[in-house]
Amino acid sequence: MKIEILGTAASEGIPAPFCECRICREAAKRRGKNIRTRASIMLSEKHKVDLPPDTFLHSLRRGRPFSRVEHLFVTHSHADHFYPESLRLRLEDFAHIESPRPLHIYGSETIHGLAQDILGSPLPKRFLFHRVELFQSFTAGDIDVLPVKASHRANELCLNYAFMFRGKGLLQAFDTGWYEQDTWDALAGMMLDAAIIECTAGKIEEPPAAHLGVKALIEMRSKLVEQGTLRPHARIIATHFSHFGGMLHEELEEVLAPSGIEVAYDGMILEI
Ligand SMILES: [Zn+2]
Ligand SMILES: [Zn+2]
Ligand SMILES: [Zn+2]
Repeated sequence: MKIEILGTAASEGIPAPFCECRICREAAKRRGKNIRTRASIMLSEKHKVDLPPDTFLHSLRRGRPFSRVEHLFVTHSHADHFYPESLRLRLEDFAHIESPRPLHIYGSETIHGLAQDILGSPLPKRFLFHRVELFQSFTAGDIDVLPVKASHRANELCLNYAFMFRGKGLLQAFDTGWYEQDTWDALAGMMLDAAIIECTAGKIEEPPAAHLGVKALIEMRSKLVEQGTLRPHARIIATHFSHFGGMLHEELEEVLAPSGIEVAYDGMILEI
């Protein structure tokens, strides 16, 4: 399974457009892997997680459009993950697609409502919404999907997804704090090959409940391996960074390398 990491930042991006902090100033100077757009990942050409406000930039950078995407998995309604205005760009006037297929959108009822606010109700025929039931697996094209509960917002169902494709598996784990027991239980024994886990809070020792930092990420990896969610040598990739975590790309690499955790950058591609 080919995985493409399109963006690796939290809500403000790095460097944040109105910020003068050390991370943002230094990232603007160093550029390269320190320039981070809002988080999204692709699995093969047909499956995408989240629709951030940087979708146009992502298509420019990868040099090809998202017209072949048939399945969009939405984690939650924060604007860095779901910017529903962008759905409009897949309507007939803006997207000339040879034999267009509907875009299947998976998410909570909150996401459905936001999509309807932009596109109308019922949704136009180029879109098909599927309300995700927590811990109920489903098939999306040739991929099996298990939605689990992310620990992120008290007033909204926030999701992470485990994806299985031809015997290979990936856990997508942003945005979330430490999982609750029902999520740990649902993920036990899956023996996945890779996990893309958030590290929003960077070097902050006591991160906010909605996110993980370096310390919590390393603990999370250990627990995921211990309970058989991940194979012992699964690839672990940290993503979803914020300036408030206080770490540049090179600093993250230095701290995470001893634990065998890779640091994602925009445009990173991995094969599992
Ligand atoms: Zn986020
Ligand atoms: Zn900053
Ligand atoms: Zn969020």
